[in-house]
Amino acid sequence: MTNIRNQCSWVHTHEPDKATQKARDLIRMAVAKVALHEPLTEPTVQIKQTALVVGGGVAGMAAAKNLAGQGYPVFLVDKSDLLGGQARHLHETWRGEDIQQYLTGLIEGVEGDRNIEVLRGARIKEAEGFVGNFRTTIEKEAETRTLEHGVTIIASGASEFVPDRYLYGKDPRVVTGLELQQRFIDNDPGLREVNTALFVQCVGSRIPERPYCSKVCCTQSVKSALELKKINPEMNVFVLYRDMRPYGLREDLYREARFSGISFIRYDFDTGLNVAADGRDLRVLFTDSVLRRQMEICPDLLILASAVIAEKKNPIAQFYKVTQNDDGFFQEAHVKLRPVDFATDGVFVCGLAHGPKPVDESIAQAQAAAARAVTFLAAKQISVSGTVAHVDAAACSSCGVCVSICPYSAPRFNEKTGRAEIESALCKGCGLCTASCRSGAIHLSGFDNDQVFSQIFASGDCSTCAVSH
Ligand SMILES: Cc1cc2nc3c(=O)[nH]c(=O)nc-3n(C[C@H](O)[C@H](O)[C@H](O)COP(=O)(O)OP(=O)(O)OC[C@H]3O[C@@H](n4cnc5c(N)ncnc54)[C@H](O)[C@@H]3O)c2cc1C
Repeated sequence: MTNIRNQCSWVHTHEPDKATQKARDLIRMAVAKVALHEPLTEPTVQIKQTALVVGGGVAGMAAAKNLAGQGYPVFLVDKSDLLGGQARHLHETWRGEDIQQYLTGLIEGVEGDRNIEVLRGARIKEAEGFVGNFRTTIEKEAETRTLEHGVTIIASGASEFVPDRYLYGKDPRVVTGLELQQRFIDNDPGLREVNTALFVQCVGSRIPERPYCSKVCCTQSVKSALELKKINPEMNVFVLYRDMRPYGLREDLYREARFSGISFIRYDFDTGLNVAADGRDLRVLFTDSVLRRQMEICPDLLILASAVIAEKKNPIAQFYKVTQNDDGFFQEAHVKLRPVDFATDGVFVCGLAHGPKPVDESIAQAQAAAARAVTFLAAKQISVSGTVAHVDAAACSSCGVCVSICPYSAPRFNEKTGRAEIESALCKGCGLCTASCRSGAIHLSGFDNDQVFSQIFASGDCSTCAVSH
């Protein structure tokens, strides 16, 4: 293909003569390359029809159940001794569904499923392989075991940020959003005694260290505020916020909260918020953004809507050669076109591991990840691209540059020969290793040196090139 439209006519719209000359050059180059074309062979890879799901929270369990329901054996690995993840601390969804009841049913369904092997308290020690043929070694109760699987779903979740200010951990009246949820689950009678409750939004979110919005906290605070009002209608309930973001239909909850007498106050984040324990009282000082004046509220329950945080430099990213963004969440291959895939074939993501999201969205994403995984499992074997690099072992000097430079970990040393080899199933044909190989031992099928040089020579004299490239 000679891409004249995108790489010539569009970019040189205002220089038609020069663009025509460049188009001629491009065609000459393509013809020179075509003359040296070799057939590309697409190797086939057998797919082991078993899945590994990392993480037994709601997302991991929903994905495992979906795959098992379609007849595929699943290993469900969780480092914790209990399944359920963060959902174990959640009371109700924003629509009022009972999360604990749902969770109990889901755990029973997963544990009773003959196609799912649940491995609790298990740590992943290492993983190797590629789509269709992964080998993951886990350690459980000092015993190691290697699991062979064709696809991997990462559902390792995230957690609640532990606040480092506002007297959290020093005064028992200061709790996080999840701790209040737990008190709802436990039907804590102490909540009836609360006279004034104050929620503080964006604790640890939308600051330079964590610039993202944690997405679940606004709705959770509005829902919890309504819950407190239900427990004690006389309670004074305030929400201090920077921006309220109960998105979509969740805004109805926000409206309901306002009608029920809950006060939403926008505070000036730059002048800050000060929490002090003055004798018996808890005093919260802040500047009201609208009134431009200092205000004080003395709550007997202060709820911090704490950020959702992910583990940065998570070893799982290394094991399965997948990427995390700057905030530690796993990054999909393409936000619109491949939203639950990674660039590494056969590895998928869902739930909090991918970014903050509520239970219903985690479940939907888990179904999507399972559906994508099945496209591999059902195929039994797949062909991988023929545009891959390969090593001429005789020319390899074993310098290791290709091994260290490849973002997909496709090259490795053959232990017997000491020379580099490239695993076709992992290679994406990016050419990094080919261009960096000092010995010229690596060739990229479809873009071999002969082909590239023939294009350069056919392009005419670059120093007198008419068009600036
Ligand atoms: C602070 C906070 C507040 C939230 N509030 C709400 C709310 O009000 N409403 C709502 O709908 N949703 C809320 N959510 C989101 C909700 O909890 C999730 O969408 C849902 O529980 C799905 O989570 P998950 O399964 O993706 O991850 P998690 O629940 O985090 O589960 C991940 C699992 O993976 C395991 N794991 C982690 N690393 C490894 C590893 N290396 N190897 C093996 N296992 C591993 C963990 O032990 C855990 O069991 C909140 C989340 C947080 C963090």
